[in-house]
Amino acid sequence: MDANCLFCKIIRGDIPAKKLYENDEVLAFWDISPQAPTHFLVIPKRHIAGPAAMGGEDEQLIGKVMRIGARLATENGIGDGFRIVFNNGLEAGQTVFHIHMHILGGRRMNWPPG
Ligand code: 5GP
Ligand code: ZN
Repeated sequence: MDANCLFCKIIRGDIPAKKLYENDEVLAFWDISPQAPTHFLVIPKRHIAGPAAMGGEDEQLIGKVMRIGARLATENGIGDGFRIVFNNGLEAGQTVFHIHMHILGGRRMNWPPG
C-alpha cells in the first residue's frame, strides 16, 4: 500500500472507480479514458510499481491478474479478440506506477502498436 498511489487510493475506495470485478487480491475497473470501445484495467491489490519491479513472489499474483482479465474480456463481449498491454516506464507511456494490465477490444487492433 502506497499512500500517494492513485490506484492504491482506488483500491481503498478513497477515489471512486467503476468496478467490474473484485476479490481479495485483484481489482478490475473501467479505464477513465478508454482507448477502445471496451477498455478496462486489472490490478493486483498489492502495490508493485510495474513489471520490472516484480519479485518472484509476485508471479502467481500477476498470473491471476491475467487469467481474471481474460475471463472478464469474454464476459464483456470481446472474447473473439482483445489486446493486453502492460506499460513499463515513462518511455513506454506508463503514467501510474502501480502495475496494471490494460485489456482493450471492440475494434480492430493494429500491429505494431503505437
Ligand atoms: P498507463 O498509461 O500508466 O499504462 O495507464 C494508466 C491508465 O489509467 C490510463 O489508461 C488512464 O486513462 C487510467 N487512469 C488514470 N487515472 C484514472 C482514474 O482516476 N480512474 C480510472 N478509472 N482510470 C484512470
Ligand atoms: Zn499502488
